[in-house]
Amino acid sequence: MNIKTKIIKYALPFFTGALILSGCSHEGGETQTETIQSVSASSEAAKTDPATASFFAMDTVMELTAYGDNGQAAVTEGEELVGNIEKQLSTEIEESAVSKLNKNKSAVFEDDTRHLMETALATGDMTNGAFNISIYPLMKEWGFISQEYKVPDSETIKELLSNTDLSEIKINTDTNEIALENKDMEIDLGGIAKGYTSDSLINLFKEKGIKSGMVNLGGNVQLLGTKPNGSLWRVGIRSPYEDVDFLGILSASDVAVITSGGYERYFEQDGNIYHHIMDPATGFPADNGLVSVTVVSKDATLADALSTALYVMGKDKAIDFWRKHTDSFDMILMDNNDELYISEGIYDSFSSDTFAAHKITK
Ligand code: AMP
Ligand code: MG
Repeated sequence: MNIKTKIIKYALPFFTGALILSGCSHEGGETQTETIQSVSASSEAAKTDPATASFFAMDTVMELTAYGDNGQAAVTEGEELVGNIEKQLSTEIEESAVSKLNKNKSAVFEDDTRHLMETALATGDMTNGAFNISIYPLMKEWGFISQEYKVPDSETIKELLSNTDLSEIKINTDTNEIALENKDMEIDLGGIAKGYTSDSLINLFKEKGIKSGMVNLGGNVQLLGTKPNGSLWRVGIRSPYEDVDFLGILSASDVAVITSGGYERYFEQDGNIYHHIMDPATGFPADNGLVSVTVVSKDATLADALSTALYVMGKDKAIDFWRKHTDSFDMILMDNNDELYISEGIYDSFSSDTFAAHKITK
């Protein structure tokens, strides 16, 4: 298979990960793929049109949908919430806590974002370093931040890897001060921030009394409850390939569905593809046999971090990891032979017309 012809171009970033499908909308004999705004196609749903907000934040298009009386307040406040989180976590905003930390090697975080840092570090531990928020200088060197891409020389990679020891990040839980003990260390929460934002939005929706809704942050989806008519949401898991819309369809409620894939952002040099998910063990883009990883969990923060980490691990280690944490998440792995490996918790809720699916059992 020629990755160049089948890979999705980075120029189409808005729908990476997953799309929400309408339950039964057919036109001209073909099933339509629609975003959540169109779910109200059925007459029952039309009685309860959702409030929606669509906006650009964190480098992606976000869509919030909330049914019920407080729906409008939920999506309006949701959009503000996203802005506030971005102001704290973005490496591109000079005044953010993360930017201050990177620059001054110390910064005071808010309670929630300090807790997020703890989660990021705990996930680093749990995944044996596959998830590592201190690879930011490597991301810069490869050009993923400036988009002036290059393949760094091995000496530079070695040197940059020497500044990725997560034990050099210290968190004071009394004062919320976070410090980097290595002056060359810089961090980036890009592998976990959208999941955290998604959890925060769903919590806000719940506080507003919303029983049915969903957030779609650039294809990373989190579902609250069921659809208003009580049926499950149908989430189309994006395929890495131009000529195939979806890996398959997952029917679900009350979970986050978060996908990582090298096809989402990459450059090509001398016939090689270099993508944006770094293997902290090598300093090179992860090349362990997976092309897409979807994590399904009630905890979107965890799902986001794990989708990145499992991609780095590769199939066998990812399956071993899942077997140790079956209560926390389920997953859909796609390897570079186009085969799907689906953990048993969601196997029966997933269907694919295109790809062979293997059930992974405990
Ligand atoms: P995702 O799309 O969630 O897989 O996140 C990819 C983003 O996470 C990249 O653009 C980087 O900002 C960051 N990242 C890349 N590799 C890693 C890694 N091994 N651990 C943690 N974050 C990473
Ligand atoms: Mg991630």
